[in-house]
Amino acid sequence: MKTNKFLSLSALALSVMMFTNCQDESLSDSGQEAIEQEIQGADTSAEVYPFYQTEKMVSKKFFGNETEFREIDGNLVIGDMILLPEQVEESNLIAKGTILNRSSRRWPKSGNRYIVPYVIDGKLPNKSRVNKAMNHWKNKTKIRFVERTNQRDYVYFTDDGGCYSYVGKIGGRQIISIGSNCSKGNTIHEIGHAIGMYHEQSHPKRDDFVKINFQNITSGREGNFRIQSASNVKTTNFDLGSIMMYGSFFFSKNGKPTIVKKNGNTFNVQRKKLSNKDINVVKKIYQ
Ligand SMILES: [Zn+2]
Repeated sequence: MKTNKFLSLSALALSVMMFTNCQDESLSDSGQEAIEQEIQGADTSAEVYPFYQTEKMVSKKFFGNETEFREIDGNLVIGDMILLPEQVEESNLIAKGTILNRSSRRWPKSGNRYIVPYVIDGKLPNKSRVNKAMNHWKNKTKIRFVERTNQRDYVYFTDDGGCYSYVGKIGGRQIISIGSNCSKGNTIHEIGHAIGMYHEQSHPKRDDFVKINFQNITSGREGNFRIQSASNVKTTNFDLGSIMMYGSFFFSKNGKPTIVKKNGNTFNVQRKKLSNKDINVVKKIYQ
């Protein structure tokens, strides 16, 4: 792991505002209260790959739109997602809903389940975050986590600073970084990337529901807010309550919101559970 990290997460200040959601009917008023309580203690701004001195910015077509990436160790990073260069090139062809659709990047099926072998770094503090997050996935989807024995492909939960993940199965050992500020909810989110999910704010219909304030976004981080316009992404609705949705103040350079609802209001970020829509998206690939 690199040693020259310069975490500057303070730029990602997150305010907790009222959470409202017209899409996810499962969120009753009491459910919303529970979510708000969860968020009070969650540092969602931790969802980012650590900042290095040596990285450079590059712009590439991603799902049809010119998108800003950080180039790190030959890979392309958006926020907390690490993408292999070939994944970016493939991007027009591989999305279904907001989830990766390339079979070689899916976790393998065994019987009626999909198996993700895992190892938890022995030095990782508060391992229960990871175990609870894996259990949540188990309870809501057909994804099953099994402790790795000799499988070639597996996820490795460790603290590399911040919370981040590769997108889909990339082959061999792939890190899911669970930094000290990453909650159970952040961990559910990062596992979402590892099984192939992208961010909800990149949904092609998102402009019907939210407005992106590009003038408030930290320079160079605009890539986190680009639409992924693959034609076959139209099969699922946009969901403000997705656990893969950014909050109103993510990557703000000035404390003003980067994403607001169409009426101009800010909204809360949901990092408690997979929404019904998230579960349906996962079902498209992991049936
Ligand atoms: Zn993410």
